[in-house]
Amino acid sequence: MPETIRINSVTRVVVMSQDNPPAAYVPQGVPVVFETLDAFGNALRSEDDLFSSAGPDCVNPATGPVFIEDAEPGDMLRVDILDIQLAERGLIATMPGLGEMGDRVVERTRFVPIEKGKACFEWQTASGVLRRELPIRPMIGVIGVAPAGEAELTDFPGRHGGNMDCARVAAGAALYLPVAAPGALFAAGDVHALMGDGEVAICGVEMAGEVTVSFTVIKAKKWPLPLLVEGEHLMTLASEDSLDAAATAATRNMHEFLAQELGMDQTAAAMLLSVEGDLRTCQVVNPRKTARMELPLAVLRECGYELP
Ligand code: CA
Ligand code: CA
Repeated sequence: MPETIRINSVTRVVVMSQDNPPAAYVPQGVPVVFETLDAFGNALRSEDDLFSSAGPDCVNPATGPVFIEDAEPGDMLRVDILDIQLAERGLIATMPGLGEMGDRVVERTRFVPIEKGKACFEWQTASGVLRRELPIRPMIGVIGVAPAGEAELTDFPGRHGGNMDCARVAAGAALYLPVAAPGALFAAGDVHALMGDGEVAICGVEMAGEVTVSFTVIKAKKWPLPLLVEGEHLMTLASEDSLDAAATAATRNMHEFLAQELGMDQTAAAMLLSVEGDLRTCQVVNPRKTARMELPLAVLRECGYELP
C-alpha cells in the first residue's frame, strides 16, 4: 500500500485558479486525504450563528490545491473517490433570497446529529414532532481543478468541476475532469452527509470531513467532461446559467460520448438516450445550475468498452 499524503484544511482556497500555489505535489496512484471544512468554513458554531455571519472567505472552501505529477494541459484527470469520513454533527442553514423558496424562509441554522450512520431530524408539525432518521449518503459538493480560463469562485460549478453538488459524487465513484493547468491543481470541500437532488433550500447536511482520493492521468483522450462513474451508471455532468441549458448540455455530452466512443450514428444514439438515459437534476441553487444524464454501464459492457 503506498504511503498516504494528508492535506490539512489550513491550505484551502475559495477560488479555483491556475495561479493558486500548490499545497503539495502528489504522484499518481497514491491515496491523498483532504481534511475539509464545511461549506461555511466551520464558522457556524452554534444554532445562533446564521448564514450571514459567515464571511465571504468562508463560503465553500476547498482544501488544496494539489499538483498532480505528470498532469499537463489537455490531459484528463481520473479522480477515484476512495473514502468520505464525516464529523459527528452537520448543519443545515437557510437564507432569505436564496434557493427555490427564498421568499418563504427566515435565516435559520439547524444542527444535525449523525448517529450510527443516520442523520437525525426533528421537525415540528401540527400533530407533534416528526422524527426522521435517514441513512447517510456521504457526497462531495465541491470537487474540481483549475479552470481553463478565468479563475472561478469555488461557489461556481463548471466544466472544471467545482460546486456541482451532485449526490452521486460518493465513495467508490470515479470523476473525470479536464486538465487545464500544469499539475491540474485539484481541490475538494463541501462534504454533505445527505442531500436531495436539487439541494432546493441551498444546503445538504453540511459537514466537515475527510475525503480520500487517488489520481490517474489519462493522455490523448478527448471526452465531453465532467464525466462520472458511480454504482451502475455512467453520467455526464453539465453546469449552465439555467437548468434548461444544463439539461441540454448534459444530454448532448452523453450523446457525443456514445457517438465518439461507441461509434453509434447520431440518430441511433439519440434514440438510445431517449429510452435508457435518465436526465436528472444535481442542484438548482448555485450561480450555475447542474444537471446529469445517467446511462447504465451495461451499455458500455455489452459493447466491450472499458473505461480507462
Ligand atoms: Ca455546494
Ligand atoms: Ca453544501
